Amino acid sequence: MRWNDKRYHTLNYELRKKFGCKVFKLSLDGGFTCPNRDGTIGNRGCLFCSEEGSGEFAAPKELDIKEQINDQIKFLAPKWKTGRYIAYFQNFTNTYGPIGKLQRIYNEALECEGIVGIAIATRPDCLTEEVLNLLEELNKKTYLWIELGLQTIHEDTARLIRRGYDIYCFEKAVENLRKRGIDIVTHLIIGLPNESKEEILKSVKYIANKGIQGVKLHLMHILKGTDLYNYYKVNPFPLLEKDEYISIIADALELLPPEMVIHRVTGDGAKDLLVGPRWSLHKLAVISGIDRELKDRDSYQGKNYNK
Ligand code: SF4
Repeated sequence: MRWNDKRYHTLNYELRKKFGCKVFKLSLDGGFTCPNRDGTIGNRGCLFCSEEGSGEFAAPKELDIKEQINDQIKFLAPKWKTGRYIAYFQNFTNTYGPIGKLQRIYNEALECEGIVGIAIATRPDCLTEEVLNLLEELNKKTYLWIELGLQTIHEDTARLIRRGYDIYCFEKAVENLRKRGIDIVTHLIIGLPNESKEEILKSVKYIANKGIQGVKLHLMHILKGTDLYNYYKVNPFPLLEKDEYISIIADALELLPPEMVIHRVTGDGAKDLLVGPRWSLHKLAVISGIDRELKDRDSYQGKNYNK
């Protein structure tokens, strides 16, 4: 199995197939908060969440959506002439707000020249009927996907990382989105405290058969300023070594269905905030390590996928 030069189904491959050119994601900050931070569910957020709501690379929230988009396009346009972009609402919980605001900012993004799709990161417990109806409408107008941060299927770990919802809530959200034909991208974190390789791969197997269209596999990394860093100082748990991580990712890719789009295979911590694993700063080395591992195994995404 090949997806151009890759042995797994990358987002780049998928977007080129769909739009016929390279498409860039523009990370946006819609000025949201999160129920897991504003006191509705919790005050401190998920254990790994940073001050920026897990969106360190988004444009400044002081700018409105059109300004954020145009600023990033100005930066990309001289080098990349394709002019096609996905507006990615990344920071915090991007369906957690008054419906009028959601409607306004999604539409503002859609009106910008070159925007061919919208990606919205949110939580499964922030998809009310009203929001789902809005997303259904949006899905008719543009290429849309919704990102849900599951991270793990193991309830003990979910409690430890203070995720704030259970697996049934996730399943309900998946059902509601799929009923409306909306694509879903799920996040998993690889290397959470106390999780064995077998447990990690159980989470991978779980999402393989849930009718989900894409996945982001994140390396668990520790950033300064997060509660995870404080936890790690008191309870130093082993961080994954690079070779170990590469091997787990190759196993995971083998377990996922070939049609599932792989949006990410590594971590992306800001250099000055990253405590560990520091090898993750060499992102290209990790990605080429995964390619090499699959080649050495003569393997590919879906090789061990079981319906
Ligand atoms: S759901 Fe996202 S924004 Fe909210 S606390 Fe967790 S990581 Fe942070």
